[in-house]
Amino acid sequence: MLETEVRGPITRVHVWRTMWGRSFYTASAYLVDGLLVDTGPPATAREVVAWARGQEVHQVVNSHHHEDHSGGDGPLQRALGVPVAAHHAAVPILAAFPRLPLYRRLVWGQPRNVVAEPLGAAVETARYRFEVIPTPGHTPDHVCFFEPREGWLFGGDLFVHERVRYLRAGEDAGAILASLRGVLALRPRLLLCAHAGFVSEPCAAIERKIAYWEGLAEAARRWQAEGLSLRETTERVLGPEDVTARASRGQFSKLNLIRSLLEANENRPRIDTNGHEPQA
Ligand SMILES: [Zn+2]
Repeated sequence: MLETEVRGPITRVHVWRTMWGRSFYTASAYLVDGLLVDTGPPATAREVVAWARGQEVHQVVNSHHHEDHSGGDGPLQRALGVPVAAHHAAVPILAAFPRLPLYRRLVWGQPRNVVAEPLGAAVETARYRFEVIPTPGHTPDHVCFFEPREGWLFGGDLFVHERVRYLRAGEDAGAILASLRGVLALRPRLLLCAHAGFVSEPCAAIERKIAYWEGLAEAARRWQAEGLSLRETTERVLGPEDVTARASRGQFSKLNLIRSLLEANENRPRIDTNGHEPQA
C-alpha cells in the first residue's frame, strides 16, 4: 500500500504491507525537489514506481542499505533511469544483496541488485543542498541528509521513535547515541523519519530518546552490579521478551538493546579517581 502526505515542498511516501487484513511493517521515503530519499521495500516497489512515474524524480539516495529503504532502487532505476547513490560501504551490498533471513524476506521481499554511486559530502538539487552526515550505529553505512538553511534532517532509521525497546543483532547502541548527539548539534527544525514521519520538534524528541536509553543503561548497570545475568537484567529493565524476539529468532530483541547499552558503557573512556586516563 502507498499513501502520500505533503508538507510544503516535501512529500512523504508512506508504504506498508497488509497481511491477514491488518496493516503493519511501514516505511517512509521522501521526495523533495527531484530527490527521492529512500525507496521503501521490495514488496512495495511496483507501487512506488507507478507513483514515481507521475512525479519529478531525478535522483535517488539511500540512508543505508536495509531492504526497507533500498528495495525500490533497482525497479526505479530500470523504469526511470535515475541515478542511485549511497554510502560507499553500502554500494557493494546493493550490487549483490545478500540473501535475507526468512522473516525479513517474508516481511519485505528480497531486493534486486542495483548499481549505486558512492555519496559525496553533499547532494545538490536545483533549490537545495543536503549535507551528508555519517550517522553509524543502526548500520555502519547509515547517513542522514541535512539541509542547513531549511533545518531539514532526513533521518533514515536513526530516530525511529522515542522509546525504542528492541535492537537488531549487530546494531551498536553506543554509536547510535553518539550519532543522535551529533545530529542534535545541528539543531534541526524538522525531522523526516523513515518510521515516525514528520517530527516537528526534533531536538526535544531526540533529547527524550537519548534520555530514555541513558535511563535504561543506568538501570541495567545497577542490576548487573547486583550480580544479575544479562537475561535477568533485561527482564528487570524491559520485561520479558515477546513475539518480536520469537518471530525474528532473536534477531530483534530487548536483550540485544541491553547488551549493547552495557557494552557502550564499558567502551567509554573512564577517568580514574586521580583524574588520570586509565591505561587499558
Ligand atoms: Zn534500517
